[in-house]
Amino acid sequence: MPINRVQFQPGLSMFEFMQRYATLAQCEAAVAAARWPDGFVCPRCQGRVVWSFRRGAQAYRECVGCGYQCSLLAGTLFQSSKLPLTVWFMAMQLLSQAKNNVAALELMRQLGVSYPTAWLIKHKLMESMRLREQDRQLHGRVEIDDAYLGGERSGGKPGRGSENKVPFVLAVQTIGPKNKPHQVCVQQLPFRKEAVAEFCTRHLVRPLTVVSDGLSCFTAAADAGVHDRIVTGGGSASAKHPEFQAVNIMLGNLKTAIAGTYHAFRFAKYAPRYLAEFQFRFNRRYRMAEMLPAMLRAILAASPCPLAAVRTPEVPC
Ligand SMILES: [Zn+2]
Repeated sequence: MPINRVQFQPGLSMFEFMQRYATLAQCEAAVAAARWPDGFVCPRCQGRVVWSFRRGAQAYRECVGCGYQCSLLAGTLFQSSKLPLTVWFMAMQLLSQAKNNVAALELMRQLGVSYPTAWLIKHKLMESMRLREQDRQLHGRVEIDDAYLGGERSGGKPGRGSENKVPFVLAVQTIGPKNKPHQVCVQQLPFRKEAVAEFCTRHLVRPLTVVSDGLSCFTAAADAGVHDRIVTGGGSASAKHPEFQAVNIMLGNLKTAIAGTYHAFRFAKYAPRYLAEFQFRFNRRYRMAEMLPAMLRAILAASPCPLAAVRTPEVPC
């Protein structure tokens, strides 16, 4: 039996992690390198000569030419955090290298922080992943289906609009003659034609062949300019259709990942973040060793996120 490429890849071992990110100085150097890969350039005078200094726990850069000062963490999701960078890096390591998702409760134990702190770390990291993945585009052969979390394809409360269920659309770009899952795009979405059309326009690009189960809302794909469609037919039969294998594999993976880690928590309120975390991790599954730097770039690209905004997912932060 061939080995599983994802499971047997080396990743970033804890030993390597400790060699690279054990101290505050190492973490600050990693942030500076990620933030200014070509070196710091003064936004006021474009000067490149800076010196570094500390004020309290914060590291700063000051332009020698004009005196402009800039905190290393200003303008990023780290900005208002009182936690040492070393804790953030350890959280990124735990989240990026675990086989399955890591819940805030597990972070609390591993990091030795309070539950509210662990929750905040987890949600800020997930929010940065959501922002990073929000423009993901798929092309080629794409299987697309809708489903609910909190309910199953068949069973649960009747009706597609049942309460307490999170409706979402899952699109899977496949690869090779066996149509294996390659990249995914998953989004909480009301099953309305306009919403699905917008999803298709934003996330699917030509050349494109869409495989769908022919639900009425997926006529939206045609409206969005997708002409090459394979319709498998709706209902439970579509779940077993060979043309629909990749999307069904991913639906299974997604439900296992969510149910296994987050069953005790209010999933529905923060569903876009949990779905984005799944998408972020899956789309980088062959590059586990690079996932921590990828998370770092995502968090540096995200704007500062006040506590109220983290707790109010309807207001993107
Ligand atoms: Zn300057």
